[in-house]
Amino acid sequence: MKGNELTPHVEELKRVLGKKVSEEDIRAELDNFVNRFGVDVENAKKAIVRKLGDEGVSFITADAVKKKIGDLTGNEQSVDITAKVVFGESKDVTVRGQPKTIFSGILGDDTGTASFTVWEGEGVELETGAVYEFRNAYTRLWNERVQINVGNRGTIEASKERIETVPYSGGEPVDAKIGDLREGMGSVNVTGKVIDVERREITVRGEPRVVFSGKMADDTGNVQFSAWEDFGLVEGRTYTVSNAYVRAWRGIPQLNMGDRASVEEADADFGDAVGGPTESTISEIIAVGGGIDVSVTGVVVDVRQGSGLIQRCPECNRAILNGECVSHGTVEPVLDLRLKLVLDDGTGAMNVHVGRELTEKLTGVTLDAAVGLAKARGDPEAASRGMAGKVIIKQMKATGNVLSDEFGPMMIAREAEFLEIDIDAEAKKLLSEMEATI
Ligand SMILES: [Zn+2]
Repeated sequence: MKGNELTPHVEELKRVLGKKVSEEDIRAELDNFVNRFGVDVENAKKAIVRKLGDEGVSFITADAVKKKIGDLTGNEQSVDITAKVVFGESKDVTVRGQPKTIFSGILGDDTGTASFTVWEGEGVELETGAVYEFRNAYTRLWNERVQINVGNRGTIEASKERIETVPYSGGEPVDAKIGDLREGMGSVNVTGKVIDVERREITVRGEPRVVFSGKMADDTGNVQFSAWEDFGLVEGRTYTVSNAYVRAWRGIPQLNMGDRASVEEADADFGDAVGGPTESTISEIIAVGGGIDVSVTGVVVDVRQGSGLIQRCPECNRAILNGECVSHGTVEPVLDLRLKLVLDDGTGAMNVHVGRELTEKLTGVTLDAAVGLAKARGDPEAASRGMAGKVIIKQMKATGNVLSDEFGPMMIAREAEFLEIDIDAEAKKLLSEMEATI
């Protein structure tokens, strides 16, 4: 792509990134991605916004296109959609350590259905069955399914349009194992043991409602569930749930027992062992989209930037540089340790985020020691480099919840340990495998 062909894309990036970044820098980055690395220009633009911009910015083009759900590609930066809310609910989540309310669910029109999330969901109350006009939304593809997102530039308005929606993944309910549950399953029958269950009172569209949520497991995995009525679920007992639906939040499948669901106690016995971490491969995780309490064994192939001794904003907990927070200006930074690792298990690669306590355990370097080293050397990077050297190219078993975003799966490690590799045993195993094939 020649310089003048890049210009409209440079202009678009300038609008998105504002004055913070110079045109020369944008052009150089874009040229690098497109012409040196052969990256598709749309992906290159996303990568540049990620690298140079604030998180959460989205492209806004002068004339947003209007599309039907069935025509969405998952690559729309700004799109208008008129659709019916098949179902939706608000949810309190934590984003970068900050509590936040989102509103998410399923939208449908006469061409298809797709999950959606309103990221600024405070005060958003969309009625199930009502039609709305979503403007300036953007889409992402996950697991070959389109997800509709309404960010801070998006708007939602009630629409008078009447819409017949296609049935949401309709048809007969299918029997499924918990390990096979994935987003888009509109009607499933699942048998599992209730590991824990909690009754919570929440507000949905201004009405108090009670939701029962917890974790269910079978011999293939764990899943979080929500029940919208009291099925009398008891911890430790096994149930068959019929006509439930699956929705993913950031790739993690969740089993929902909605209006059509029924629950019966089951004879199946999964034993006491179920409910613990599930051993999995990265390719299996990628196929599903995420999971709770998953264990993966692989090799640490990269320690990403932002690992080691870092500064956090005391207000928003965001990682910052040189005591400057994009939201809170100059602040007195709080020092912290973390690792952002890339773990490869031979089937795929996954980001693993490791918090302070685990980082101290894995590297043997405490926060105080890292601060001391940084001061002694007059170089905060010195501590970070030393810590990276202690984890790279080691075999590691990591356990935690795995979320997904557009960059793929990311584990928030709850537990992690290095495995000693017995070179002799590995060599013998390899030799006997080779001999067996001769
Ligand atoms: Zn801040």
